[in-house]
Amino acid sequence: MSVTSIPASPASPHGNPSRSFLTVPKDGAYRVVNARVPVDLAPSLVDYAGSDRMAPCEIVVDGGQIALIGEPNAFPATGDLPIVDLSDGIVLPRFVEVHTHLDKSHIWPRIQNDNGTVLGARSAILRDRETRWVAEDVRQRMEFSLRCAYAHGTGAIRTHIDSYGKQTAISFPVLAEMRETWKDRIALQAVALFPTEVAVTDEAQFRSIADIVEKHGGIMGGVTAPGGRMAPTIDLELDRLFQMAAARGFDVDLHVDETTLPEVRSIEHIADAALRNRFKGRILCGHCCSLSSMTDEDFKRIAGKLAEAGMAVVSLPMVNMYLQDRGTARTPRLRGVAPLHELAEAGVHVMVSSDNTRDPYYAYGDLDMLEVFREATRILHFDHSDRPWIKMLGAAQAKQMGLTGHGHIAAGQPADLVLTRARTFEELLSRPQSDRVVLVKGRQIDTTLPDFRELDHLYAAAPAPPLAMTA
Ligand SMILES: [Zn+2]
Repeated sequence: MSVTSIPASPASPHGNPSRSFLTVPKDGAYRVVNARVPVDLAPSLVDYAGSDRMAPCEIVVDGGQIALIGEPNAFPATGDLPIVDLSDGIVLPRFVEVHTHLDKSHIWPRIQNDNGTVLGARSAILRDRETRWVAEDVRQRMEFSLRCAYAHGTGAIRTHIDSYGKQTAISFPVLAEMRETWKDRIALQAVALFPTEVAVTDEAQFRSIADIVEKHGGIMGGVTAPGGRMAPTIDLELDRLFQMAAARGFDVDLHVDETTLPEVRSIEHIADAALRNRFKGRILCGHCCSLSSMTDEDFKRIAGKLAEAGMAVVSLPMVNMYLQDRGTARTPRLRGVAPLHELAEAGVHVMVSSDNTRDPYYAYGDLDMLEVFREATRILHFDHSDRPWIKMLGAAQAKQMGLTGHGHIAAGQPADLVLTRARTFEELLSRPQSDRVVLVKGRQIDTTLPDFRELDHLYAAAPAPPLAMTA
């Protein structure tokens, strides 16, 4: 039996020390031993789970796949393979993001949010998009974001794409190019994002958005209450949106009620429209902040409708923390996080995701799903709960996105794994796990993060023109 030594700080292709805490064999089959997996992400090991729903295990990687997974020493015939010893470290599947904005990412250095509010973000994005989002600009920022997500261990991403006027025809071809370039590393899905009012006020534009969504295998999106304001035509908008989606076979993924005002309830209109139109596709609603401010009576009625319509909710807790209830020189009281425990209890499929990264909607972020899960655990109290919240790392998102081979660990799947030094959830969430090892098809990738300086040339152009409108 040969044993692979585990040298510290192996060299990366860039000549810098890699962040990874160990190295795995560069070719051939190998055994990962003394590993622990959350059984909610590895159902075949459920019989071996401890009280923390973690199971000790051994994984044999061969031909880029998880050839075998079982309890320790389950596969004596593989005893001659090189060993990667995790010393009880946790193994996770690569992560899945269901709600991001790759086209907006990394513009913060050239266009900030003047006051840190949703309206401030909308105004700033409008100014930047109108003047600077040419294909090359969008391409370079998307590529940078994908490199960040990949290095952190993400294997699938859904992004919303601003689909306003001329921008739709600029950004979707770039997204298609990225999807092709990255297909062996990250599975990409795209959602057209536009105010749902367009379905009523500009039918020609609505049809052209649907055409480009269809061409690129995308998903029908929309904002139902931009700026916390529902149009009086909301029901007609939603009827047209669901009818278009049904006719063309689209799933639906909406930005919903990004406000703590309890009277903003476009989510109830969405559920009513989905039921009225007997929509059969998947429906995901993002944000849903106002659910957190409603009376119990209103919440229960609406949650019941969401469950009946088979709708899902994604919370974006880090962005909600940044934008909601912000005022000058005052401390936020209302945090605007969708009540995921209660929604799950009502039978609604729930999940979390990053949302924005380094743009006027969120000045921070790096598309690290482990950071999102760590923050969500603290913000939404995923701990002290019997629910399998560990599925928020990707299993729940993969189900919503219709992806197979993502979010779980099982024999016969690609060996797309994240190896950590953490032995318990407490250790996992106490540190950022910056030394994690990421395996893609069984091979260790370089987890060196791209340098922000690489994008500096995108910020050198003349500043955006003065604000033309404020909403
Ligand atoms: Zn969003």
